[in-house]
Amino acid sequence: MNRSFVSEKSSAGRDRAQQWRRSLWIAGGLALFLGVAQPLFAWYYFTTAAGERQRWVFGTSCNAATQITPIFDTDIPTQPRATVIPAILTEWNNAANVSLYASAQYTVSMNASNANAFINSPTSGELWVVWDTDGSVLRSLGVDPSGTILGVGLPLTPNPAAPADVCAAILILNASTSFLPTSAATCTTAGTCQTFAFTLLHEMGHTLGFAHAVSGRNGSAFSTAISNLPVMYPFAHSTNTLAPDDIAGARAVYGFN
Ligand SMILES: [Zn+2]
Repeated sequence: MNRSFVSEKSSAGRDRAQQWRRSLWIAGGLALFLGVAQPLFAWYYFTTAAGERQRWVFGTSCNAATQITPIFDTDIPTQPRATVIPAILTEWNNAANVSLYASAQYTVSMNASNANAFINSPTSGELWVVWDTDGSVLRSLGVDPSGTILGVGLPLTPNPAAPADVCAAILILNASTSFLPTSAATCTTAGTCQTFAFTLLHEMGHTLGFAHAVSGRNGSAFSTAISNLPVMYPFAHSTNTLAPDDIAGARAVYGFN
């Protein structure tokens, strides 16, 4: 069974597919000329209605902070807290080689009421990670938690005059599904904790402004092998490390030291 993430920006995905086909054709021409196939990346991003790329801004009136503060739901079991969450934060920090994320904090017990209040009036610089044990938060956002949805990641752009400026974000993990760990005891590397790690890694990509990517890195030959798929692929494929495609996106948008 495929475990799906919420599919966002389907029109952007189509545009991306068209762009990817163009890129492949152009690079094919380069390969003939250079004799070397250039690696291609297919990462993509959320856009505003005007086509601007959405990305986090720092040191602005919308978000004065210099880092994202990840606030995790206090209901998350002690494991994956201890090892999985720090590793996933580090994975994105290392990708861009910019310390996007501060250490995880566990300061809020989250529910549909305070999650929706945060969405409507977010605290600048904060990423909320909701542990939705009964699906009520997803349901309040119009998402059916009873299927195979693992999570949702939403960048928040509170300034209507600057719709590309992401200044906060919310991420909801569907803890009502048996795919995610219901207790520390059920969190194993091969089981639910692996799914937790991948889901968090993927949804954090959305909260950074990245949309789905379907083809990943392609070199001299197109490969659909799972090892070639980006984390931003729309279906879960169980990895806790970013693919070259995801890293290329992180570096392009957030810089590389
Ligand atoms: Zn997704």
